Amino acid sequence: MQLSSPRLRAALLAAASLTLVAAVLPPPKPLGIGDRLFPELGNPGYDVLSYDLSLTYKDNLTPLDAVTVIEARTLEPLERINLDFTNGTVASAEVNGEPAGVDSVGEDLVLTPAHAVPAGTPLHLVVRHTSDPRGRADGGWVPTEDGLAMANQADAAHRVFPCNDHPADKAYFTFRVTAPAGTTVVANGVPSSLPAARAGGAAVWTYKTLHPMATELAQVSVGRSAVVHRTGPHGLPLRDVVPAADRERLEPWLAKTAGHIEWMEERVGRYPFENYGVLIARAKTGFELETQTLSLFENGLFAGEGYPEWYVESVMVHELAHQWFGDSVTPRTWSDLWLNEGHATWYEALYADGLGKYSLERRMREAYQRSDQWRAAGGPPAAPKAAAPGEKIGLFRPVVYDGAALILYALRQEIGGEAFDRVERSWVAEHKDGTAGTEDFVRLASREAGRDLGAFLEPWLYGQTTPPMPGHPEWSGSTAPKPTPKTAPKTAPKTAPKAAPQAAPGTAPKAAVADPAAGKTV
Ligand SMILES: [Zn+2]
Repeated sequence: MQLSSPRLRAALLAAASLTLVAAVLPPPKPLGIGDRLFPELGNPGYDVLSYDLSLTYKDNLTPLDAVTVIEARTLEPLERINLDFTNGTVASAEVNGEPAGVDSVGEDLVLTPAHAVPAGTPLHLVVRHTSDPRGRADGGWVPTEDGLAMANQADAAHRVFPCNDHPADKAYFTFRVTAPAGTTVVANGVPSSLPAARAGGAAVWTYKTLHPMATELAQVSVGRSAVVHRTGPHGLPLRDVVPAADRERLEPWLAKTAGHIEWMEERVGRYPFENYGVLIARAKTGFELETQTLSLFENGLFAGEGYPEWYVESVMVHELAHQWFGDSVTPRTWSDLWLNEGHATWYEALYADGLGKYSLERRMREAYQRSDQWRAAGGPPAAPKAAAPGEKIGLFRPVVYDGAALILYALRQEIGGEAFDRVERSWVAEHKDGTAGTEDFVRLASREAGRDLGAFLEPWLYGQTTPPMPGHPEWSGSTAPKPTPKTAPKTAPKTAPKAAPQAAPGTAPKAAVADPAAGKTV
């Protein structure tokens, strides 16, 4: 039989070449970009420019129907394109407009296009899939009493959507979420249109980020929410998302954000994004998370679980500080996590100091006493030990929080307050919307100090033990558990933070939880 239709002929040839390619390629396997702590996270060979996620939500027990569209650019010739994805079923995929082969291997989704894609060319990927909100309890979708929120740090975005799930590859995001009548959807960025009506009272909510974002910082909130608008410093739009029933009760907390932003801007410069707000979810997470422009908090923090007001505020400032340190400037590798948490802890502690509740010097002295224990348990701040299998949140140990804020304190002691302030401001200005790592920080600090700080910072960053604190020769490490501060929360939260048992080996978990420095994973 002679084929007379060019389209039919092309389709047959494409199918034949797909078979041929599949026959000669080695079996698909999970790939990564070589992150020391998450070897199979991220994928080599391309740079994602944007994600366009369409999600249809029904309820917390039904997988969402989803289409993820990725615009990328190849960095090398690719016979296969690996994405990170698990916890959903893939119906079909396309590469540059043609059907592609689909394999799930480990936590990778491997697409095999009909033809290899040359280096330096655009890559248009379409994946039709589901996204299961019932997944494991360690990240991705977070079920709340009235819907869903998202908590992807460090490696859980790919439990929600196919992606290059590493903060080294930031991209722009568009979210299009269809949700039933009576629910409100809010995502990172700004609404790009009014919600469009769909059958049965459902609506499609569309948001776009105006700045690039790491996959770990994506946020989509679906629930019976109130969205509270107000204006912050220099006209910055503020947008809080809270359970509608809790709006009045939470108002005194929401009203504090504008002041927090002013306080941060006085220290490090302009807030880096298009808007900001808190997302307070009726969920027991045991952590708060700095999702970009919309930080996630569990309701219990504000609901009388024994946390004093100054502590709650300092945690709000911690997540806000991450918008500069961690979100606008993201870590190049997960070993650079101390740059996120050390800085957020620094401003958290500085804010509490300003309230006169817990002085920075006391907090740093107490951290110093425990720093050697923290290093023994978690590794040095800039080369932390990998988390135990199945305990990925275990990466978030005291050594990258107060143990890393201690590095900043040492730096300030060494170079003086003025040079330190320049370091902080230059860091967030020069790496805005980018990624940066530990060596970049050492270089920038050296430049601002006018001398090479490599030898000074090396043992602080990578040493098994804590170096002497400049200006405090009397400080020493101690293995004795520290007493509970008088100003500490009166009662332990019901949800014990996962990090607490690791916070201080040999210390009773209750004491660790009562310690503001180790009370919550933030
Ligand atoms: Zn944090």
